[in-house]
Amino acid sequence: MRTVTTVLDGCVAIIRFGEPPVNSLGFSTRRALTEAIDAAAENPAVAAIVLAGYNGLFSAGADIKEFGTPALLTAPDLRNLIAAVESNPKPVVAAIEGNCLGGGLELALGCHYRVAADSARLGLPEVKIGLLPGAGGTQRLPRLIGVENAINVIIGGEPMPARLFKGSPLLDALVADGDVVDVAVKLATAKAAEIAKGGKLPLARNLRICDPNAEAVLGFARTTVQAAYANFPAPLKCLDCIDAAVTKSFDEGILIERQRFAELMMTPVSRALRHAFFAERAAAKIPDIPESTPVRAIKRAAVIGAGTMGTGIATNFLNAGIPVFLLEVGQDALEKGVARIRESYAEQVKKGRLKPADADGKAALLTPTLSYEAIAQADIVIEAVFEEMSVKEKVFAMLDKVMKPGAILATNTSTLDINRIAAVTKRPADVIGTHFFSPANIMKLLEVVRGKATAKDVLATTMKLAKTLRKTAVVSGVCDGFIGNRMIEQYLRQALFMVDEGASPTEIDAAAERFGFMMGPFRMSDLAGNDIGWHIRKNRARHHPGISYSKVADKLCELGRFGQKTGRGWYDYRPGDRQAYASKVVDELIAAHRATIGIKPREFEGREIVDRLVLSLVNEGARILEEGIASRASDIDMVYLAGYGFPLWRGGPMCYADELGVYGVAQRMRELGRNPYGDPGFWVPAPLLARLAAEGGTFNTSGARS
Ligand code: NAD
Repeated sequence: MRTVTTVLDGCVAIIRFGEPPVNSLGFSTRRALTEAIDAAAENPAVAAIVLAGYNGLFSAGADIKEFGTPALLTAPDLRNLIAAVESNPKPVVAAIEGNCLGGGLELALGCHYRVAADSARLGLPEVKIGLLPGAGGTQRLPRLIGVENAINVIIGGEPMPARLFKGSPLLDALVADGDVVDVAVKLATAKAAEIAKGGKLPLARNLRICDPNAEAVLGFARTTVQAAYANFPAPLKCLDCIDAAVTKSFDEGILIERQRFAELMMTPVSRALRHAFFAERAAAKIPDIPESTPVRAIKRAAVIGAGTMGTGIATNFLNAGIPVFLLEVGQDALEKGVARIRESYAEQVKKGRLKPADADGKAALLTPTLSYEAIAQADIVIEAVFEEMSVKEKVFAMLDKVMKPGAILATNTSTLDINRIAAVTKRPADVIGTHFFSPANIMKLLEVVRGKATAKDVLATTMKLAKTLRKTAVVSGVCDGFIGNRMIEQYLRQALFMVDEGASPTEIDAAAERFGFMMGPFRMSDLAGNDIGWHIRKNRARHHPGISYSKVADKLCELGRFGQKTGRGWYDYRPGDRQAYASKVVDELIAAHRATIGIKPREFEGREIVDRLVLSLVNEGARILEEGIASRASDIDMVYLAGYGFPLWRGGPMCYADELGVYGVAQRMRELGRNPYGDPGFWVPAPLLARLAAEGGTFNTSGARS
């Protein structure tokens, strides 16, 4: 495939470049583009050059497949390419449409002139993967748009519409409508004539920043960044580089940029962020389902059960513009559910996040009903009724009877066997699990549960639907708790054992939050509702009596302390306030509980708390991976990043284990297993973990990029 083509338009060489789908600047493109620019420089018929991407896009930047490989820096690298542009004796004009991001924008900054469609999106997103723009972006951009704006672009990392830069030396022309390349060719022709008459080519590197406020702006940014990105090293290093753009020569600034880039590349945080970036893309790919698998059209949906989850799930469809039926057993519950959806929209209108007309438009897509016949034509139906197998079985038998052929029958169960649910229908191939997280209209994660009979196109359709609903979907096999809850159960079990042994919920939460979790285990349980775990434990005791638990959480629930919803749980809550206050009642309950089981409380160090919590996730994650419940370690990481508040800068539990070294993880587990209290047997490293430790392997080496 040709990645670069040159066409002559009068005396202007229009060089188009890029690899589909985003016109990335991989090695072969960089080489061909550098050669094309050099050839145009030497061609006497060419007086000026226009650089443009294919298919209405400039370039989304570096080829991400090259990250972490020698190809990224194989010459010509991006800096060599930019040097070929910048040192070109003929005017080089960037014609910018669509995305112009990362290395793409750095290339444009190296051009002598830039013309952009006013809808083009410009940005330097490197900070999001723990890096900084390493091809001159931190030096050229502040010279063109000023220090404050450059800080916003480089540290914000978000693409911005070109029209925001109107009037700055960044853009020589902004095209509202009309052909950007045509405008660029005209500008290039005019500039060539000026150069022929002795004019000089403008270079961003030659500009000086004369901003009396620069020092104050940088000082303020430093304070803000230190507070807001305490665990992320890249933003501060970006500021070092922007500072150098103000105080040092261009060449010195470039050296500092290069040095800071290399330092960041080696940080565990950047490795974790790059891992998360790849993990999200990998999760969308299912090993045995080709991307060409035909999908079923989803034009109309139905949700059964208008409780907490049902209303949230229905809202996802409304937000995506997909009409949805909401079905309940009784009029009262139905009305309550509809009212909850309407209230949530009204709230958003009140906060100015939604226009009243948009809220009305979304709500109008909702059809409440008590009748199964009414929903028969829906393309997908998601069941979110009580978590009881007998209730679900009745609902699925009914759905099997009424739903049109080809409809997807999904369940939002968190713990029940999807194969058993599918078996009550005559169409198990159409049955799938869609495990949303609460609040379902806000949480990003969706576990898509593949039953043993689930058809490939049903899975492919559900994954596509997840994208439409703006969810991060991860495929899980069938097991108790699927990926996320099966692991969190071990984590919570350890948290409770530690309470038995002497740690307080506050201490445990504080250690988990210092590690970086959004919420410690007890604050999380109070938010989710302690009764949910209680219900599951009771069920589990019936089916798997062998699993040992601390009884302390059951005793808490016996007092009705279900968490935030009852105003009391592991902590006390005050009306209208989500702050958790330590509870005397809970302290007494824990002390009495310890006395009953004959435990003399001991001191805990933060390290033991964190290791027991996080390594319990890792050990169960290893089992899940080995059993094929998750198809890659990075899928497990994605579940924890998108659904459980695991710190993004640690990349997920399996990435964290890789970073620690699997050998060291196994060693620490054996050490933890010497504690006779709790369930020492749990700490026997899972077979996969033991094997990787012995081989010096890592969980993620083969997964994330597949
Ligand atoms: P909920 O009690 O808030 O709502 C259940 C609703 O289903 C009620 O409104 C009830 O009237 C209705 N219902 C019961 N039987 C019905 C039937 N036969 N036909 C129609 N409607 C019926 O429960 P929830 O928290 O929304 O949970 C629903 C499902 O989602 C459960 O399977 C649960 O395990 C799962 N889930 C819950 C959470 C959570 O955090 N709450 C998270 C993930 C998954």
